[in-house]
Amino acid sequence: DLYLKALEIQGFKSFPDKTVLTFGEDITAIVGPNGSGKSNISDAIRWVMGEQSTRALRGGKMEDVIFGGTAKRKQLGFAEVSLVLDNSEHFFDLEESEVMVTRRYYRSGESEYYINRRSVRLKDVNELFMDTGLGREGYSIIGQGKIDEILSVKSGDRREIFEEAAGISRYRHRKEEAEHK
Ligand code: ATP
Ligand code: MG
Repeated sequence: DLYLKALEIQGFKSFPDKTVLTFGEDITAIVGPNGSGKSNISDAIRWVMGEQSTRALRGGKMEDVIFGGTAKRKQLGFAEVSLVLDNSEHFFDLEESEVMVTRRYYRSGESEYYINRRSVRLKDVNELFMDTGLGREGYSIIGQGKIDEILSVKSGDRREIFEEAAGISRYRHRKEEAEHK
């Protein structure tokens, strides 16, 4: 089944050391005191799936995702997050039985994206998740206030939400891209 198998975080927000979280097919709850990094984990998932909005990532600029140092520890030069999804049933159009998506961001402003360790563009990551219900615009991550937002948006915006859920937006995206060429 399609499920999140693992998340590897290194140099992202409050995780300077390489941290590997593995998940089963069942439910996982992440618990911890205030400020211990729970939301930073969901930020890491959002980010590796292509999130470009620093507001959605609870920061001011993209650099804020990189470990910024503490009294005891120097800041780091880059952040890297990898997400591993099961692909044994080939939900994604890739031969491999797992899909690993990696994003790396350097203080210099340089970004790198990989799908199964092959260097790709952000566009490829967006297309991988588009209309899967996963990804930046999907419903895999329901943040605080999201339900309220869906209920209160203007009808046109709500239409977009349902189009994404119904799998229509991929075609709209391709059509728009073709028209702009
Ligand atoms: P709460 O229960 O209050 O929601 P939480 O477990 O969700 O807490 P987070 O918001 O994930 O906590 O983590 C906040 C911590 O992450 C803060 O201590 C903050 O200093 C730290 N943090 C955020 N960005 C960075 C960064 N770039 N470098 C180092 N630490 C960071
Ligand atoms: Mg939190």
